[in-house]
Amino acid sequence: MKNTYFTPGPAELYPTFYQHLQRAMDEQIGSISHRSQQFRDIYKFADEQLRTLLAIPATHGIFFTGSASEVWERMLLNCVEHESFHLVNGSFSQKFYDYANDLHKHAHVLEKPFGEGFDAADIEVPAYAELVCLTHNETSSGVQMRPADMHKLKRKYPKKLFCVDTVSSAPYPDLDFNLIDSAFFSVQKAFGMPAGMGIWIANQTCLAKAERLQKNDSLTIGAHHTLPTLWKHYKTFETPATPNVLYIYLLGKIAEDFNRIGIDNIRKQTEEKARMLYKFLDSSDGYAAFVKPDRHRSQTVIVATTGSPDRVKSPADVIKVAKTANMIVGSGYGKYKESQIRIANFPAVSVDQVAALIKELQK
Ligand SMILES: *Cc1c(COP(=O)(O)O)cnc(C)c1O
Repeated sequence: MKNTYFTPGPAELYPTFYQHLQRAMDEQIGSISHRSQQFRDIYKFADEQLRTLLAIPATHGIFFTGSASEVWERMLLNCVEHESFHLVNGSFSQKFYDYANDLHKHAHVLEKPFGEGFDAADIEVPAYAELVCLTHNETSSGVQMRPADMHKLKRKYPKKLFCVDTVSSAPYPDLDFNLIDSAFFSVQKAFGMPAGMGIWIANQTCLAKAERLQKNDSLTIGAHHTLPTLWKHYKTFETPATPNVLYIYLLGKIAEDFNRIGIDNIRKQTEEKARMLYKFLDSSDGYAAFVKPDRHRSQTVIVATTGSPDRVKSPADVIKVAKTANMIVGSGYGKYKESQIRIANFPAVSVDQVAALIKELQK
């Protein structure tokens, strides 16, 4: 019997993935030139489908990178001359901040303890920060920041660039790209593909900034995948380097499937499954939801505490029992392995599969 993966990336593959992959092989996508019309059509198709799905306006380009964490570096190199500002409340937002330090940017940080979330009212952006780096879904702790708070913050600081890590939540967050300058994600989380590609959405304001920094001799915006090079090739739906043509093809197909269902339905289904999981955790003796305030509870990565003295089963027990029922549950992140489990709630798992998992966890 096949396993169902509730792990937060790599995760369960989207059910249509196999047929799209088969089709791609039949069409010999792996051998076509990335300078051919066939490839340009594949890029254009993925671009159109993602634009529809995420409501991306013409001001923003859509680019492909090796992974999402590559975009942390690209964003900082291309859009920060001196200072960036980071909201940190877990391991992924921390890494974005670490990249800024490693690139010798003057990085400001507002930190909250692991498991706590940010609201617009908490935040004062430092005067000289050029880029505000937000994480929609902190995958390590299961905390989300609501788009409404991000939009409110941008309205308060309209001159600053805003970039959002949506790696473990896109297409769920309803970002207003008239306010958000850049966002990014990778394919192995909610899009239900194997790992190996990042998607970078950035607007013309980001491009203008990168072009300005490029002229500055005392600074580098890097050599690989600079925003000006990506954008130049994007105009004809090409890429500077040989891209992952197969994955761009598959992403376009899965985004098309999501569009057939409709983004509103995908968001509603996500919320329904999250509600089921939190309801179970809140009412169970053996588990507790790690994040308490409703507004900060991630809808796509649910973190539960188990195995503390008053809880019956340790995370290792829970993971083992679920596995015998062919369900793969994620372990807690880093040192939280001893006390937590993580359950991914991506579009690839159905209401019925989530119900079956809850039944198994109840045992
Ligand atoms: C997984 C993840 C990343 C890193 O993505 P890669 O594809 O491994 O580069 C970054 N941010 C968040 C929030 C993530 O969940």
